[in-house]
Amino acid sequence: MLNVELKKSPMRKHTPEKDQRKHPLSGRKLYIPRMSVGAARTMAAAFQSLGIDAQPSPESDEQTLTLAAKVTTGEECLPQRVVLGNFLKVITASDFLPAETAFFLPTSSGPCRFGQYAPFLKKLLREWEYEECVVFSPTSSNQYEGISENTNAFLRVGWRAVLVSDILRKLMLMIRPYEKVNGTTDRVHMESLDEVCEILSDGTCSLKMQMKLLTGQLEHIRDRFKKIDLKEPLGSRPLIGAVGEIFLRFNSFSNQQIVRRIETAGGEVWIADIAEWVWYTHWEVKRKLRERGKRFSTDMLMAGLREWVQHQDEKALLVPFRTVFQKREELKIEQVLQYSTPYLPPEKSLGEMTVNAGKTIGFYHAGCDGLVDISPFTCMNGIVTEAVYPVISRDHDDFPIRMFYFDGVPFDLDTDLEIFMELVKSYRLKRLGKRG
Ligand code: SF4
Repeated sequence: MLNVELKKSPMRKHTPEKDQRKHPLSGRKLYIPRMSVGAARTMAAAFQSLGIDAQPSPESDEQTLTLAAKVTTGEECLPQRVVLGNFLKVITASDFLPAETAFFLPTSSGPCRFGQYAPFLKKLLREWEYEECVVFSPTSSNQYEGISENTNAFLRVGWRAVLVSDILRKLMLMIRPYEKVNGTTDRVHMESLDEVCEILSDGTCSLKMQMKLLTGQLEHIRDRFKKIDLKEPLGSRPLIGAVGEIFLRFNSFSNQQIVRRIETAGGEVWIADIAEWVWYTHWEVKRKLRERGKRFSTDMLMAGLREWVQHQDEKALLVPFRTVFQKREELKIEQVLQYSTPYLPPEKSLGEMTVNAGKTIGFYHAGCDGLVDISPFTCMNGIVTEAVYPVISRDHDDFPIRMFYFDGVPFDLDTDLEIFMELVKSYRLKRLGKRG
């Protein structure tokens, strides 16, 4: 029994209407972990297209960590504590109804603690006799069972949700450091999210029509971003690539708002997007198939087909941004992994460490002036990558690379960033001088 005093809300039997039985989550509010505000909102919209009352989990703040600390041992990684703490805000709220609540927690196998999030939350709910509350963890190993009657269509909407949130974030980060009036870009970003979410959440729309509406809306959004008044020319600041653990690099509470702080210190940030991880998982699936001698198999064919469909969606959504993203093109995952091969070979290192090492070199070749790795303290990925960064830097013109670890305890990040930005500025002068 956990030694925790959480205020329990009264139990209420859930008596769903007949017509709500269509989906196992009907009649429940589904909370989506708020990794990045954009992705949580677009993913919630994707679930809304199935008629599910989905929304991002509450925002992270000090209370998040306080609640998580009551049920954790201190060995959990920061992302786990933040996700759990935000869910605990829901569970401890006076209006919490277990039978009308669900938490979305995808899972994974392997050494990463991410695979422990869902079992741990389920265990807590059992101990508190909240078994009626659902932890929704569809995985590829069970073909995303229970997600929808038409799983493929839903996965397609979910993929588009990831892509549009990546696109909007990228646009925002390219413009925000140069805005004349503080807060304008954030406001446009939020309005844009509202608009794409409205399209994604419409379950009556065919996939074809949805794409048409999304691309049309993205054109308007692009033009609205372009109209933002600027105080400096776009692209005139030192450009900082950002890699790291996927949750930490997007969750601004967990990373002490590092992106904004870099902007305040005079830089612009280009952050590795969420889609990159999806491409990596596809690459990994195919690698495993080849390893098992299934190079020519139905599984391989299906994997290739899924990738092809996803590439088509990506291409279509990026059409309005051909010119805007000309100097911000994302590398193909094969290229990222080729870059990482001499340092952390993808067949041996696996996961974020190999992707981040390769992406760092990708950012160097793309003309970045420095790189930050945003990682949780005690996570193996960051520790391994940190060991190879000095060699990567040496092999690439002393490209400035700085590791930033976070464990939920605030520290003087600005001073560290100031020193890093000095390094970045002198590297930039050298780089531009070389170009002549
Ligand atoms: S990668 Fe590291 S920080 Fe992220 S969930 Fe896994 S163990 Fe935690």
